[in-house]
Amino acid sequence: MVKLPSAPLALHLDSAALKANWQWLAGRNGTARCGAAVKANGYGLGAVEVARHLLAAGCRDFFVATWAEAAELLPHLHGAALSVLHGVRPEDMAFALASGARPVLNSPEQIARWREADGGSCDVMVDTGMNRLGLSTRDVRPDLLAGLRIETLMSHLACADEDHPLNSEQLRRFRQAAAGVGAKTLSLANSAGILLGEKFAFGLTRPGLALYGGIPRGDGAGHIRQVVHPRAQVLQRRFIRPGQSVGYGATYVAERRREIAILNVGYADGYLRGFSGTGAALHEGAHLPVLGRVSMDLLAIDVSTAPEVGEGDWLDLEFDLPKAAAQAGLSQYELLTTLGRRYARIWR
Ligand SMILES: *Cc1c(COP(=O)(O)O)cnc(C)c1O
Repeated sequence: MVKLPSAPLALHLDSAALKANWQWLAGRNGTARCGAAVKANGYGLGAVEVARHLLAAGCRDFFVATWAEAAELLPHLHGAALSVLHGVRPEDMAFALASGARPVLNSPEQIARWREADGGSCDVMVDTGMNRLGLSTRDVRPDLLAGLRIETLMSHLACADEDHPLNSEQLRRFRQAAAGVGAKTLSLANSAGILLGEKFAFGLTRPGLALYGGIPRGDGAGHIRQVVHPRAQVLQRRFIRPGQSVGYGATYVAERRREIAILNVGYADGYLRGFSGTGAALHEGAHLPVLGRVSMDLLAIDVSTAPEVGEGDWLDLEFDLPKAAAQAGLSQYELLTTLGRRYARIWR
């Protein structure tokens, strides 16, 4: 077989920035350990590679959502702890028991299932106000939890990215719930929760977004570094005359002659339609705006100010997450987790 050509679109992933973000977050924690949420394929970056770099930085506690994610990651964790946030369904039990990862038990049903199987160490999630997954605080009773070996008791903050009264209320309820449980470790804070201050850190934190360059609260700006740098190759350069349009719907109409470059990236790669007319490529300091609608596989940009850009050149897409989120009208989480499979993922 002839060798497959390299992909015409790439994510440059900055391992030094990933590690620096983890270390910065760990430094906000007081004496708490800093873990890492690597669900959804490491927020789109690639869970195995993310874990490899964070292990090297010293991270020993990882979190995924499902057992399929756990199966992919476990061979690469070299004994570091892995918690599976969605707990155990009946059909998960055989795998979970054999795996060495811990389920995060979320309901009386899951607790009964794990206890009856004599499953060993587990985590427990208590719901302190988000009303998503977890035991309600009234179910955190000695009789319900009897016989479990609880490694980490955790809860999850609903509004940590805002100054919201629920934050301190959840903190209060979590402390109260934890008092009767006898878990080895307590854990409440995600990325934004870490920035709320040390009293939210307890024994272990669970950042995701901020590891990958997301800035969950203003306080993180200037400390958290960009990790993901999408790039795409120019497939064609052309010019359009005044009055001519670009792309589907002819939404962009040139008021004067324009030089345009067509890049090999589109909404199927997670460069979503929200960047139509708002996003930009970057080339040697030049800011090259997206023209018209983003297509499934292609993107037009204005290279009128960059005469040197031609077919085969690589351009960076602007992807500073808070700014890109505002441009696209999406959350920073969505921008990361929709990054597509066609990118070559290149760690440096
Ligand atoms: C996703 C998730 C996290 C990480 O949250 P970020 O906001 O990305 O830091 C932490 N804990 C739980 C339970 C989660 O589901």
